[in-house]
Amino acid sequence: MRVDVLGVGFDNLTMDEAVEHGMALFGNREGAFYVVTPNPEIVELCRTDPKVRAAVNGAALVLPDGIGVIKGAAMLGTPLRERTPGVEFAARFVERLAQEGKSLYLLGGKPGVADTAADRLKDRYPGLMIAGTQDGYFQEDGPVVEAIRHSGADAVFVCLGAPKQELWMAKNGPVTGARVLCGLGGSVDVFAGTVQRAPAFWCDHGLEWFYRLCKEPRRLGRMMKLPLFLLHVLQEKGRR
Ligand code: UDP
Repeated sequence: MRVDVLGVGFDNLTMDEAVEHGMALFGNREGAFYVVTPNPEIVELCRTDPKVRAAVNGAALVLPDGIGVIKGAAMLGTPLRERTPGVEFAARFVERLAQEGKSLYLLGGKPGVADTAADRLKDRYPGLMIAGTQDGYFQEDGPVVEAIRHSGADAVFVCLGAPKQELWMAKNGPVTGARVLCGLGGSVDVFAGTVQRAPAFWCDHGLEWFYRLCKEPRRLGRMMKLPLFLLHVLQEKGRR
């Protein structure tokens, strides 16, 4: 049962449940599955672009990345239980991959970033198997898909930014040979240490977006999608 927020169906899970659902996907006998973590900006994109909407709703797990989606769902009278930020989901998922002996391929970020992220993740989660890395500025999908297939990776973190990563996973996921792919935006930069997450205070008070805006003012254009999203939620509420 998914909670509909402006056409995107969110899974109503706690972080613990989301991680376990993600791990359970490895138990399926065949097929590739992908995980997405939309924020209001992506929901807005889904409203106007049916291809992106299909890619997002086609995911095995659709997790609310930030406070905006949580607020929107509550305003619509169908609250979601917990915020499940992509980067936190990723950290928890990596920990479980290391425990279960599953290998991870890191795709995305500027040249060198995925390598640094891989080194740091291996330090932090002993036993983690990195199947390979690849930066996110390639020209053709074919060789990248082939490299992942050849690596035998069980899981892939696809960090190409939205909606590129969602479309990429929907199209290429099944041919990579990996069982679980996760679209995680800038998480690769956080793991590499090139971008810092907001301190706990800001995250706990639903203000991570504001912290990021202060650090990277060029995000303002993207963030203007948030008021638009809330306006559309109010319109939808009026219709229901
Ligand atoms: N990126 C990439 N290939 C591209 C465009 C972006 O690998 O063609 C990477 C970029 O280097 C960054 C991530 O995708 O690591 C997206 O970061 P952003 O801050 O936009 O993502 P968010 O976390 O906000 O979704």
